[in-house]
Amino acid sequence: MVFGNIIYLYPLEKSVAKVIDLSKYTKELSNLFSSSENILLICHINPDGDAIGSQLALYHFLKASGRNVGLMAPNYLQEFLKWMEGADLINIFIKERKKCRKLIEEADLIVMLDFNQSNRLGEAEDIVLASHARKVIIDHHLDPGNFAELIISEPTKCSTSELVHELVCEMNRVQFINKPYAEALYAGIITDTGNFEHGSYSSRTFRIVADLLDSGIEKEKILNLIYNNFSSDRIRLQGFALNKRMVVIQEYKTAYIFLTKDDLKEYNHLKGDTEGFVNLPLSIKGIYFSALFIEKDGFIKLSFRSKGKFPSNEFAAQYFSGGGHLNASGGEYPATLDITIDYFLKVLKENVWRFEDKM
Ligand code: 5GP
Ligand code: MN
Repeated sequence: MVFGNIIYLYPLEKSVAKVIDLSKYTKELSNLFSSSENILLICHINPDGDAIGSQLALYHFLKASGRNVGLMAPNYLQEFLKWMEGADLINIFIKERKKCRKLIEEADLIVMLDFNQSNRLGEAEDIVLASHARKVIIDHHLDPGNFAELIISEPTKCSTSELVHELVCEMNRVQFINKPYAEALYAGIITDTGNFEHGSYSSRTFRIVADLLDSGIEKEKILNLIYNNFSSDRIRLQGFALNKRMVVIQEYKTAYIFLTKDDLKEYNHLKGDTEGFVNLPLSIKGIYFSALFIEKDGFIKLSFRSKGKFPSNEFAAQYFSGGGHLNASGGEYPATLDITIDYFLKVLKENVWRFEDKM
């Protein structure tokens, strides 16, 4: 295989960046930006690093271009994201409904980042959908819903942050607008790739990150702010979850972890503390599918992770009213923990054939 003047010894597949012609989007996007008085950027409910990273990167680009930009999230940010410059400017819908309604009503352009279904707007869904603003989706999940005039959906991108950066590069000659932009971009990329562990990144991702490092970004500082910032309760909860609440079913190539409300209370659980737990069982030899069950009021929240080709998103969509990516997805089930686990085991059994010959 030959790329430019480099000869690759192996036929690389997933890790080779697909060349996407983003100019088909950026012309329209530029026009929308320059013809709008008030732009509102909205991320998804329970925002992760990529949701906030892509939202703030785009914010810093638009601010640097002299645009009037507002920020909104459907609900609260987790602690590990609050250090990002501009995070304190994000209006939280469930906390400041009146102000957020005004922002939505006054916006003539709404850009929605890192989600593909309108229910990810949480309690803001109806008012956002009813707004007369022109709407844009910028996202990297499969199969976007039809709730915007311009849908920029690129599932080949490791993160919405990478996609935002590619769009910005296409619209703007300057690589990294400023430090807050670069930091938000880096945070989005490392969190959505699990610090370059998940297979969703490409060679292009590393070229962007290489340029980011050359731009002088303080990578240790950011890694520490994101990954080495846990409370002792959180680490103890992780130990408890692995020791007492993990079930490994080698026969099904699956492991799951469940946590009751009482478990969470005992470890003074704070929002976000269970983030990442679902990845842990995948490091067990022979395990290709992992699930995390968290008991909530009246329902169970589920997270799924898979290795290889097992379509965790199809599983989530078919059985747990959810969705997501091939290897990372989630959903929920309106029952008790016991009933949900029984149901999970039943439907898992029906899907075990999907593991065969594909690993
Ligand atoms: P996490 O397990 O980190 O909460 O979620 C992983 C991914 O699964 C998210 O990025 C999102 O794409 C998807 N996801 C999680 N929960 C849900 C859900 O309830 N519904 C849908 N449609 N997707 C979800
Ligand atoms: Mn993302």
